[in-house]
Amino acid sequence: MHDASMWHLKKNGIIVYLDVPLMDIVSRLKFMKIDRIVGQDAGTPMKDLLKFRRQYYKKWYDTRVFCESGASPEEVADKVLSAVKRYQDVDSEMFVSTRHVWPKDDDRKVSTKFFSEAVIEGLASDGGLFVPEKEFPKLNCGEWKSLVGATYIERAQILLEKCIHPADIPAARLGEMIEAAYGENFACSKIAPVRHLSGNQFILELFHGPTGSFKDLSLQLMPHLFAHCIPPSCNYMILVATSGDTGSAVLNGFSRISQNDKRRIAVATFFPENGVSDFQKAQIIGSQKENGWAVGVKSNFDFCQTAVKGIFRDSDFTGFLVMEYGTVLSSANSINWGRLLPQVVYHASAYLDLVSQGFISFGSPVDVCIPTGNFGNILAAVYAKMMGIPIRKFICASNQNHVLTDFIKTGHYDLRERKLTQTFSPAIDILKASNLERHLHLMADKDGELMTKLFNQLEDQHHFQIEKMLVEKIQQDFVADWCSEGECLAAIRSTYNTSGYILDPHTAVAKVVADRTQDKTCPVIVSSTAHYSKFAPAIMQALNIKEINHASSSQLYLLSSYNALPPPHEALLERMKQQEKMEYQVCAADVNVLKNQVEKLIQSQFV
Ligand SMILES: *Cc1c(COP(=O)(O)O)cnc(C)c1O
Repeated sequence: MHDASMWHLKKNGIIVYLDVPLMDIVSRLKFMKIDRIVGQDAGTPMKDLLKFRRQYYKKWYDTRVFCESGASPEEVADKVLSAVKRYQDVDSEMFVSTRHVWPKDDDRKVSTKFFSEAVIEGLASDGGLFVPEKEFPKLNCGEWKSLVGATYIERAQILLEKCIHPADIPAARLGEMIEAAYGENFACSKIAPVRHLSGNQFILELFHGPTGSFKDLSLQLMPHLFAHCIPPSCNYMILVATSGDTGSAVLNGFSRISQNDKRRIAVATFFPENGVSDFQKAQIIGSQKENGWAVGVKSNFDFCQTAVKGIFRDSDFTGFLVMEYGTVLSSANSINWGRLLPQVVYHASAYLDLVSQGFISFGSPVDVCIPTGNFGNILAAVYAKMMGIPIRKFICASNQNHVLTDFIKTGHYDLRERKLTQTFSPAIDILKASNLERHLHLMADKDGELMTKLFNQLEDQHHFQIEKMLVEKIQQDFVADWCSEGECLAAIRSTYNTSGYILDPHTAVAKVVADRTQDKTCPVIVSSTAHYSKFAPAIMQALNIKEINHASSSQLYLLSSYNALPPPHEALLERMKQQEKMEYQVCAADVNVLKNQVEKLIQSQFV
């Protein structure tokens, strides 16, 4: 357990960590003549000693072999062989674009990307999204059962290690990132707890992160992955157009990378100066840190998004930034694989929690119901199923902007004559569910040609239709419906009246759809994607609370006086207070002004 010896081992070979459940080791030792191990003082419980040792193993190992309880020596030996083989096969887990068509003389090297490249590049150069070339790794039943008693961090480490090749991020390093992401930044030590609501309905609370939405679950980790993956010689400026939860979650996530990384990674978020709620504005501004800025733009969200896309496409400008400042522009949007992957963990974790709380036994099915915008959260649930979590139905919930749920019902994705309307659940006011392309790709047996055709058609003609067989295949697992504005408020009101629990409007959308579509033959886990205090005006309307003072902070205090469940979000209250003192930039609605602003920020950050 000396660093020097470990380092010596590491230099000369591969360190395989046999991760055996503590109780297994303890019970094995009972059968041996000795019941103590070297270095153990009489009276030190074996459990404490093993826990103490574990930190050394965790620091130094190259590859972990996760041994489920009761595994035989032969099984473990097989696992060691495949772990070593995986470790040595550095290009065995590559990523391809959903629009990729394999050429006849298969030149695999050119068209496949490492995990790290997929994270840096975000979008594939052909316009498609990166997906793993091979299948998702699967855990067996014994391995899952061994995770029932594990913490969120332990679950995340085991699952994500299986999905990220150690050549991209060494397993021990990944483990540290996961600890940094989910260690102390969440208000609840369970990170993503599951709460029984009523009947067979459970709420997966995804809002305990620092900015109060489920985006924290991926954006507390993704910046660490990103910082590890980028080449050491460049600076990175991340540009985000935001109308809601993403801006503050990105700013917050990137403010937690190491001091060294902060010197080369910065974030600018552009938001419509008069197009976001007071609360959201306060939150975005209040999330500014030494390497992150909020910039108000005197226009609407569409302008911000189009302007940012335009800046990325302006190769003269991006080339200039590279030459002049050694700075590359990047985005951290929800199609990035580094944002999608961490979300798989909480779906698996929720299921394991239901097992550990005795509501189900491992192997019996559950449904999930998710308020869906860009299709990221629900797709992560599909991936959790591919890893072995027995999810039966994926219930996709929309609000009045229900192009996606119509598509799942009919196979026709039709944007013609559809205008985006503003709702009480703005984070799912979305017409183009970008991650849907990944799911279609999966369902259509990875037909890149078809994806190219469909999504070009969506671009040019604003609609596409898939064939009947494909719709039916999707409908085997997917159920979809939408919820009106009135139903949303009514659900918030009735849930509060019957259980004292306040749903945020997005969660309410999902609850309404779950009530209507789920057959109650198994539990349903409803994703609660935001804390209700982020949407105080809608909640007050739903609960008939009259408030004369319109300031966001006083609304929050009023709501917190209701003593409802879940408790008030302290970090949000705190940030509301701080924000009153913070300054931020405001720009005219002109791409050139935005470019100027980006250059100024780069100068102030990196020069
Ligand atoms: C982003 C967001 C969603 C939509 O999630 P997708 O993964 O894009 O479907 C839902 N609810 C809230 C509160 C959000 O912030």
